[in-house]
Amino acid sequence: MRRTLFESLVNAPLTEAPPHSDDAALAELAASVERAARRKLGRSLSIREVDAGSCNGCELEIHALNNAFYDLERFGLRFVASPRHADVLLVTGPVSKNMHEALERTYNATPDPKWVVAVGDCAVNGGIFAGSYAVTGGVDKVVPVDLHIRGCPPSPVQLLKGLLALLDQ
Ligand code: SF4
Repeated sequence: MRRTLFESLVNAPLTEAPPHSDDAALAELAASVERAARRKLGRSLSIREVDAGSCNGCELEIHALNNAFYDLERFGLRFVASPRHADVLLVTGPVSKNMHEALERTYNATPDPKWVVAVGDCAVNGGIFAGSYAVTGGVDKVVPVDLHIRGCPPSPVQLLKGLLALLDQ
């Protein structure tokens, strides 16, 4: 134990250095999304994430929007637990056959006006799962899609830019 403590004091950390952050640009982008939401809805934006069979890579990037680095909630943008409270459905994955009905029901439970954003290459056209017997091959095969955000996975900044483009439409 003493040896481990000593080694941790004298050795450099094994973790990677954090990525270079451009806090000002990020804050400006998130604030633009918030302003666009208030212009369009008169309030801040509520987002419901739907995993329709993704590998979870896209989820990691979406979750990052809530971490201490991006901290989306400081701009009033928030993730909600129920589609009944959501303005935007962020849908990931190629929509597996098992998630087909769940996605339809989630869409129907979301009040108008609502937007659907297909996140990641799988959600656009099935991605690496395209052609599999187990998937439908993209979110727009099941529900109408307002915006595609490509990438495998798209970064949090790409997600924010996508939301801004959606609200500026
Ligand atoms: S787009 Fe890439 S990261 Fe996202 S669910 Fe598909 S394979 Fe995974």
